[in-house]
Amino acid sequence: MPGAAPDLPVVAPAAGAELFAAVPGQPEAVAALRAAAARPVHAYLLVGPQGTGKAAAARAFAAALLCPAGGDATCEVCRRVLTGVHPDVVVVEREGPSISVDAARAVSRLAARSPVEGRRKVLVLADFHLVRDAGPALLKTIEEPPESTVFVVLAELVPPELVTIASRCVRIELRPLSTSTVAQLLVAEGVDPVRAAELAGASGGRLDRARLLAADPELERRRQTWRSLPGRLDGTGATVATIADELVGLLDSSVGPLAARHAAEKAELEALSARAAAVNGKVGRSARGDLAAGVKELEERHRREVRRQRTDELRMGLAVLAGAYQERLADPSGRAAAVAAVQAVDETGRSLARNPGELLALQALLTRLDHR
Ligand SMILES: [Zn+2]
Repeated sequence: MPGAAPDLPVVAPAAGAELFAAVPGQPEAVAALRAAAARPVHAYLLVGPQGTGKAAAARAFAAALLCPAGGDATCEVCRRVLTGVHPDVVVVEREGPSISVDAARAVSRLAARSPVEGRRKVLVLADFHLVRDAGPALLKTIEEPPESTVFVVLAELVPPELVTIASRCVRIELRPLSTSTVAQLLVAEGVDPVRAAELAGASGGRLDRARLLAADPELERRRQTWRSLPGRLDGTGATVATIADELVGLLDSSVGPLAARHAAEKAELEALSARAAAVNGKVGRSARGDLAAGVKELEERHRREVRRQRTDELRMGLAVLAGAYQERLADPSGRAAAVAAVQAVDETGRSLARNPGELLALQALLTRLDHR
């Protein structure tokens, strides 16, 4: 209810916290989104590689679109959009490896519904570089959505299947962050410059991962374990099995800081839902239903983040291991073996895209390294 907006409790923003604070290092994209929020069209396409802040940018943009103050202040509406509990901002995430035609049809039905609270509704469509053959099912809706619906389509790139949809959207690019930008942002957040450079190097240019590593006291121990592997393999299957188990244990423990953040996010969502339910006069089953839906969505996102963290961590470990073998390239007597080892590590890294089991992939790699 827009008329009720002045009565909403205003949450004082933390010092320096503003709507697009979660999208650092993207001044052009943020400026474009801010300008767009004042006079929105019906569809936007945010394009940029993984970890460039597309999802955060989409949420901030949605908040600016719904905010009764035009996004100038971080109010209760903005807070609820940013924490993912506003009913008029729906983030559509894929279920399987690509966007299904059924999911595309569900989006069209969703787009046709009126906003719950305000005059506008925002549909954020994630991972649309994976739209495959679901594009045509959505095209008409994205071309001519109901007056009150704004689409924000997210994609890592624009493959041929997305070109037609892309041509109907205002396109906004998010650039990959350079290692030095990631390091600078970490320093601005209080990380020691030497450590910031090291973390930025291990982050693959992804600020989300760099931050996670910064909060991780065990990172150096895990890197050291990977670095020590070449000297530990002794030609026995027992050692291969022991080390492979140990490495999977490292992947488990690398999820620790993420788990702590997830618990905090869940608590915040519960607190916000309780407050929103009170503001909207929702009680009993309706309020519990909102909360249950929000928690389910949050838990699904958390599961995806855990999977991605394990893959990222494994990639980092493989990069450290390849580096350890590369150091041996200088020694002529071991050169051929080192070249073969680097190649084996590299192939394992590329095979991760096919989602093999971690333990099996590591056992196979260690066996190869052991018998070269
Ligand atoms: Zn606001």
